[in-house]
Amino acid sequence: MTIFKGLEDIVQKDFPLGPMTTFGIGGKAQYFVRPRTEDELREIVERCAKKKLDIHTIGRGSNVLVRDEGVRGAVVQLDPKAFGRITIEEDLLRAGAAAPLPKVVAEAARQSLSGVECLVGIPGSVGGGVRMNVGGAYGDIGQTVERVKVMDAHGETFCREREDLAFGYRTSNVSARFILEAELRLLPDSIAAISKRMKKIWIAKKNSQPMSAATAGCAFKNPRGLAAGLLIDQAGLKGTAVGGAAVSHKHANFIIVRDKQQTKAADVLALIEQVRNAVKDRFDVYLELEIEIWP
Ligand SMILES: Cc1cc2nc3c(=O)[nH]c(=O)nc-3n(C[C@H](O)[C@H](O)[C@H](O)COP(=O)(O)OP(=O)(O)OC[C@H]3O[C@@H](n4cnc5c(N)ncnc54)[C@H](O)[C@@H]3O)c2cc1C
Repeated sequence: MTIFKGLEDIVQKDFPLGPMTTFGIGGKAQYFVRPRTEDELREIVERCAKKKLDIHTIGRGSNVLVRDEGVRGAVVQLDPKAFGRITIEEDLLRAGAAAPLPKVVAEAARQSLSGVECLVGIPGSVGGGVRMNVGGAYGDIGQTVERVKVMDAHGETFCREREDLAFGYRTSNVSARFILEAELRLLPDSIAAISKRMKKIWIAKKNSQPMSAATAGCAFKNPRGLAAGLLIDQAGLKGTAVGGAAVSHKHANFIIVRDKQQTKAADVLALIEQVRNAVKDRFDVYLELEIEIWP
């Protein structure tokens, strides 16, 4: 591991990525790196650049499917403890990129701050959430983001401010290699009102989504004016399976892994193609992926 000499504490070779994702399947990372400080992260970035080694950033792996062949290069996950701090000053919540969204939602509610309760039940991190503009029918993280601290592919850190940020449907213009921290501007409200909204959203999700299954959330983006789940359902695909991967009976846009030991990423990919082809044949609509396939 000469490329990472001296960094053995935070680098592991041939590291299984399945457990780092909510699907729980997939191949290995050539190198898995968990920096604890910005300096360590910069060092990693510089060494990878020198050796022309690809870098991939993983948050809580809840929107990613790793192919069985695995990922060449370095998969970097900001250390959850070091980059997971949440602080609140008046109506501004500052969260490290590795902070879990459920913790952000709970912390905001505890401090009588509204704006992120729409994210209840979503298992990602702040970094992944900002990158993807996580959200849905009840709102998204983008509407609260005031400032984002990032590090680029050269190891430079800088901040992006609200007026320079753009958020769309599962997209943002925050494209720097690493999101390090985000500041969210929230609104004071009563804990009772926030809790009531959270409960309502939670119940709606629990009734309509396979919340505890091994999945990465919605597999496909909703085509303009249409619901991907409805199209998949109307194409008669609920329950369709390839190996241990299946279209959820509860929500047709969720692909679930029934048995991690018996399921390959290739099964999920084959199922994705089957669903896409069936929806294309039936409705002449091409479904774009919401989940990311690595590499
Ligand atoms: C049960 C379930 C329900 C879900 N419901 C929703 C929902 O309602 N709405 C929704 O939008 N999503 C939903 N998701 C998908 C997922 O939780 C979100 O997309 C989440 O924002 C992904 O965050 P993550 O940390 O897991 O990112 P990952 O899956 O690890 O990565 C996603 C992308 O973000 C990038 N990334 C991650 N961290 C960083 C960082 N620090 N810096 C730069 N880039 C980074 C990765 O490189 C990758 O491109 C759901 C998933 C599950 C399993």
